[in-house]
Amino acid sequence: MTDSKTLYHWANGQKVDGKSGRFSDVTNPATGEVTASLPLASEEEAAEVIAAAKAAFPAWRDTSLAKRTRVLFKFRELLDERASELAAIITSEHGKVLSDAAGEVARGQEVVEFACGAPHLLKGSATENASTNVDVASIRQPLGVCGIISPFNFPAMVPMWFFPIAIAAGNTVVVKPSEKVPTAALWMAELWREAGLPDGVFNVLNGDKTAVDALLTSPDVKSISFVGSTPIARYVYETGTQHGKRVQALGGAKNHMVVLPDADLDLAADQAINAGFGSAGERCMAISALVAVGDIADTLVGKIADRAKALKTGDGRRSCDMGPLVTKAAQERVSGYIDAGESAGATLVVDGRQGEFDADGPGFFVGPTLFDNVQTDMSIYTDEIFGPVLSVVRVESYDEAVELINANPYGNGTAIFTNDGGAARRFQNEVEVGMIGVNVPVPVPMAYYSFGGWKNSLFGDTHAHGVEGFHFFTRGKVVTTRWLDPAAREQHGGINLGFPQNA
Ligand code: NAD
Repeated sequence: MTDSKTLYHWANGQKVDGKSGRFSDVTNPATGEVTASLPLASEEEAAEVIAAAKAAFPAWRDTSLAKRTRVLFKFRELLDERASELAAIITSEHGKVLSDAAGEVARGQEVVEFACGAPHLLKGSATENASTNVDVASIRQPLGVCGIISPFNFPAMVPMWFFPIAIAAGNTVVVKPSEKVPTAALWMAELWREAGLPDGVFNVLNGDKTAVDALLTSPDVKSISFVGSTPIARYVYETGTQHGKRVQALGGAKNHMVVLPDADLDLAADQAINAGFGSAGERCMAISALVAVGDIADTLVGKIADRAKALKTGDGRRSCDMGPLVTKAAQERVSGYIDAGESAGATLVVDGRQGEFDADGPGFFVGPTLFDNVQTDMSIYTDEIFGPVLSVVRVESYDEAVELINANPYGNGTAIFTNDGGAARRFQNEVEVGMIGVNVPVPVPMAYYSFGGWKNSLFGDTHAHGVEGFHFFTRGKVVTTRWLDPAAREQHGGINLGFPQNA
């Protein structure tokens, strides 16, 4: 262990040391080195962090929108200035290459920029004289303490899908980062303090299931925004809603890219590489199944194979195309899937278990892997591998491709590559998936649209960020008012026990 440090929680604008005596290791996946020890919260520690957020809520809720958005603008400026610092932290704990980490930060920053429009987005509506002398106004108010539980694969962007909007809307938050990549959230906590956010509005609770369960069951936590694997998303949704909270729980994925025979095959091959192997396949929007329609498969597989073999895999701080997987366990799991695909009879065109990796230590590397002739009952097709493994499934027709996608239990993202506008239009209409790309392989919505999948990729009915985000982090209140002119006070109608009718 070199330069290893002990991390902490963050509550009330300051570091809080762990007291549970339970810790987990944080590693640099490119070298295998343990870089930090992370305290895992006990129930009591979780309660203390939640209490800090609860105590800060009334004053933040009552802080004017003008003042709240000024803090957000400042946070945005600081983030913009120090984006490379945050990207380096992401690379050191997640492993993704620096340019990819910078892209993640930029996407998160766009949500902060969107949240700076809170005064407009929180506007209610009013109707004069809805009934005689009766006016109606609708307003939206913050919820209270919002829990945000995030996965390892986007240490900065995923929490930023939620907290800028929650905070702009007047809530306080407790972020529970993945224990594999905790430093980004702690870094952002310091940035908030510098931006002038009052203590207790942004808190970080480090931990595992104990911390998650504390958030899910605490009566003081009013909402849960979760992103992670499907089994945990389902559990979080069921447990959180049982405890009276509104919950949005985004789960896993198995994203298909359909290539029609008329597509530009060089474009499709480039994009299959980017979407299949970017971030070593550890993206919920990664393409893991390429559906080749008709007689293009041989040519397309050849083009993808040539490109895959030319990729350089290694330490994300060097000029590599692809970094390592996040942990040794992930490396072993992904290698296991490659073994299984090979024994099941798929054609292994490029084998990522072999290869040279540009790194100083025994990092958790698997190189780009390409399978052809994959059948839909093979585990490399049925399971979310979450690694750099691209499976080509050959089908005869467009209809067969759509049937495959719609039969899949996941529905996060999908893409079609074609030059036929009519086919693309049919695809976007027929396919049962939340985010669709037409000649765009990773169709991640902009901050001002909402991000979310269908089926087992999302539990709950609200997607992340966009206008839906403001809706999720506020609740509606409708105020019905009657003011009578003094001269007309006798005409108030007197006693009438009937149900009020509009007149
Ligand atoms: P994960 O489900 O293992 O962990 C997510 C969070 O849940 C972490 O904070 C973790 O500490 C916590 N957690 C883990 N096990 C738990 C348990 N038993 N009880 C309570 N909490 C628990 O996911 P991960 O491996 O960190 O992330 C990868 C997964 O996230 C993939 O499935 C990926 O598709 C998914 N993901 C989805 C989206 C999306 O938008 N749909 C985005 C990013 C990642």
